[in-house]
Amino acid sequence: MTEQRTARPIRSVAIIGGGAAGWMSAAAISKMFGRTVDVVLVESEEIGLIGVGEATVPHLSAFNRLLEIDEAEFVRQTQGSFKLGIQFNDWGQIGDSYIHGFGTIGRDVGMLPFHQYWLKARAEGRGGDIGRYSLNTVAAPLGKFMASASDAPPNSPLAEIAYAYHFDAVLYARFLRRRAEAQGVRRVEGKVVAVHRGGTRGFVETVQLETGERIGADLFLDCTGFRALLIGDALDVGFDDWSQWLPCDRALAVPCEKVGPPTPYTRSTAREAGWQWRIPLQHRTGNGYVYSSRFTSDERAADLLMRNLDGKPLADPKPLRFTSGMRRRLWDRNVVAVGLAGGFLEPLESTAIYLIQAGINRLMQLFPDSDCDPALQTSYNAQSAFEYERIRDFLILHYHVTQRTDSDFWTYVRTMAVPDTLRHVIDLFVANGQFFRSGTEMFGLTSWVQVMLGQGLYPQSHHPAVDWVAPADLHALVDHVEKVVASNVSLMPAHEQFIARCCAASAGRAS
Ligand SMILES: Cc1cc2nc3c(=O)[nH]c(=O)nc-3n(C[C@H](O)[C@H](O)[C@H](O)COP(=O)(O)OP(=O)(O)OC[C@H]3O[C@@H](n4cnc5c(N)ncnc54)[C@H](O)[C@@H]3O)c2cc1C
Repeated sequence: MTEQRTARPIRSVAIIGGGAAGWMSAAAISKMFGRTVDVVLVESEEIGLIGVGEATVPHLSAFNRLLEIDEAEFVRQTQGSFKLGIQFNDWGQIGDSYIHGFGTIGRDVGMLPFHQYWLKARAEGRGGDIGRYSLNTVAAPLGKFMASASDAPPNSPLAEIAYAYHFDAVLYARFLRRRAEAQGVRRVEGKVVAVHRGGTRGFVETVQLETGERIGADLFLDCTGFRALLIGDALDVGFDDWSQWLPCDRALAVPCEKVGPPTPYTRSTAREAGWQWRIPLQHRTGNGYVYSSRFTSDERAADLLMRNLDGKPLADPKPLRFTSGMRRRLWDRNVVAVGLAGGFLEPLESTAIYLIQAGINRLMQLFPDSDCDPALQTSYNAQSAFEYERIRDFLILHYHVTQRTDSDFWTYVRTMAVPDTLRHVIDLFVANGQFFRSGTEMFGLTSWVQVMLGQGLYPQSHHPAVDWVAPADLHALVDHVEKVVASNVSLMPAHEQFIARCCAASAGRAS
């Protein structure tokens, strides 16, 4: 017989930190549990937010639906634009370009994914670039965008278009703050200077502000960014450092004037010691150089970034430092770390906001009583570690599978030993193009396959079952998919037109 537990329900949650992690948590928890749980958020204007984090992945729309956020309103208020994928330039080799588009590649037939048929067609000199079979990948460089057409037939690629958003990070936090406060979240301005613990399990009982005021709660969310005040400083939970595989540890971020219509994709251009991002918004373009301090200097990085902007800079470059990796436990005692306090995987695939969202969802699913049952924590921590590690491997793939030899940085990442889990994915793909999504890992077949091929990793063969298909049928399939994609893209409006029609921001609203 299991013992009857006597813990009382959680009545109060204190969120420490008001960046994207803090306000996303506040908005979601107050929406789901607001009737029974008091939510307070403490933030310090003096410390401010990190202020980057402007590109997302498609999962964010599920978070918006949970919060009943109107998409047009959200895009308008955050100066947002739409993202069909990421264009990777100069990654496999200087001069290469490919797009990691969201959505699907072609049409799966029988038990096999489309790319298996394409591999054979290509070997026979028939198939074009894999990007030609993805709506997102064809539409993005043409500057086309639309949301899914509700009146399209169900098997039309226009019926379900996978897309994400770009937005102004500061406006996003403000947008969420308004929603959270409207849902009853109490905001406290102030700097936390001490964390007080007690009880038999060393739970955090209160945080103390500079003014002397103490804020207590049953459950604390550490959303203090890289400072990690609770999970790191107070609870001393260690950090797994993954910089041997992801050596970029610094960034310079700078906005510039926009010089044309916003592109419906993020751009990532590989540079001598890292890569440069370009994120188009309605009112400006966000840029940054993510680099490894082991392989270049801050001065050289700043010079390279400023020489490669496509518009007039609107500020001085803002320096940021980080280490890719994660806390050994994201949930410890009655503290859950959300956002940068818990870990960071460099921004190559725009996954940090997704990880915040996933952490909040997981917490809501495993929402504890006030005793914070260790079984719930174990599950939370194991699921989080799995998710981080699989994304980590996906990021490492971009660096490792390269033919670049033009700098010490590229030589290092090309020749480094990679985690066994990634080695296995690469070996499997090289053998005959197979990819299996591991459990609930975030990136699926479309993403892995596009990046492996885009980086120049081609399988030696294809699945044997493809040989059972008559060559004429195989070629007809590949040609048909290409035509369907092209004809549907031709029906899509320009991204700029779409924004103007549904969600143009007012001119004055800027961060
Ligand atoms: C170079 C770079 C590029 C990035 N690009 C992307 C991207 O494209 N897409 C993406 O999804 N993510 C990206 N990210 C990650 C993204 O910026 C963060 O995940 C996101 O902004 C959430 O940050 P946060 O809320 O955890 O931390 P922060 O924004 O740093 O917020 C921390 C909060 O804690 C408060 N605080 C700290 N100490 C105290 C204290 N003592 N007392 C009171 N309050 C305190 C601060 O005032 C602030 O409100 C990027 C990150 C970096 C470094």
